[in-house]
Amino acid sequence: MKSAWEAVAALATGFATTFKHLFRKPITEEYPEYKRPLPERTRAVIILTRDPDGGERCVACYLCSATCPVSCISMQSAEREDGRRYASWFRINFARCIYCGLCEQACPTSAIQLTPYFETCERDILKLVYEKEDLLVDHGGKDNEYNFYKYAGVVTKVGDKGAHIKEAEPVDIKSNLP
Ligand code: SF4
Ligand code: SF4
Repeated sequence: MKSAWEAVAALATGFATTFKHLFRKPITEEYPEYKRPLPERTRAVIILTRDPDGGERCVACYLCSATCPVSCISMQSAEREDGRRYASWFRINFARCIYCGLCEQACPTSAIQLTPYFETCERDILKLVYEKEDLLVDHGGKDNEYNFYKYAGVVTKVGDKGAHIKEAEPVDIKSNLP
């Protein structure tokens, strides 16, 4: 059991902290006139980015929608004549999104990224459903270098098998037979 002196010391410590703050200069940020710069890693509004050649990075693999804990991402996959996959439509319901960032971590092409922009308040909740044209931007977001099709080994007009960065030539397995 604590002695009376220990209880008084604990109270004094608490009041000392309160007293210290009485003489501190208050920090008041007049939002929205002043907007505190947020770190790049802040998780808010989501964008769909492009690769350095200007192509859509999203290959409509559905990994982001599969990993989303609140099922707020939906899309339809399609394929171009040159073999590149893309999403014919892509939708995020920001009224449900909890900005967890799991979609960004699951994405193999760095297409989907969360940004520090958070000012999306709407009176009409349906305005928080963003379509592909609302999400697609004309830059690479946090990574302007990565181009999935130059690494993936997928045959498209960007390159054949073995022609991609750090990719080995295909092996003729019959040449290994005795
Ligand atoms: S941030 Fe989380 S909740 Fe929002 S779309 Fe991505 S996975 Fe879903
Ligand atoms: S995980 Fe990335 S590439 Fe796959 S569908 Fe989502 S945004 Fe597109």
